[in-house]
Amino acid sequence: VTFEIDSNGIVNVAACDVETGQKASTTISLSSGLSEDDIKRREAALPDAPRPPDGAPPRTVLYVEDNPANMTLVEALIAQQHPHLRLLTAVDGTLGIELARTRQPDVILMDINLPGINGFDALHILRNDPLTAHIPGVAVTANAMARDKARGLAAGFFGYITKPINVRQFADTLNA
Ligand code: MN
Repeated sequence: VTFEIDSNGIVNVAACDVETGQKASTTISLSSGLSEDDIKRREAALPDAPRPPDGAPPRTVLYVEDNPANMTLVEALIAQQHPHLRLLTAVDGTLGIELARTRQPDVILMDINLPGINGFDALHILRNDPLTAHIPGVAVTANAMARDKARGLAAGFFGYITKPINVRQFADTLNA
């Protein structure tokens, strides 16, 4: 994983998935080095973070992901753009299922290529467990072909986020 920061405060993150050899890259914008107008323009371009109703507990997101670079990116995205969300993380499907049962997240972001059981198998278990059947699952995967997406939706995923993770697609999915 590499991180490069340019003079505009844009962080370029590049990673290579050890399982698939697939390269992924994304950028994160930091406010340092930007004028106030720049910051306002960038903020205006960002999707609004969902506002929880007054008095409602923060929504909880469970992210099941074995790739530390993707985990770091999602942690940063949630901290910057969805600060009221609580993020739970699991590095494999078995741990993810256990956390889903005990912590009852509002949504589960699920990597497909995982050690042990894969994301499809984990979703199948979750959907057949009365404790977790109601929790929407969103596939997060580098498999971006149309047939991969169709397979994911047919398997019961409520949404599909492709890697490298697009900030707006990520926000739109969480707001859905
Ligand atoms: Mn993976």
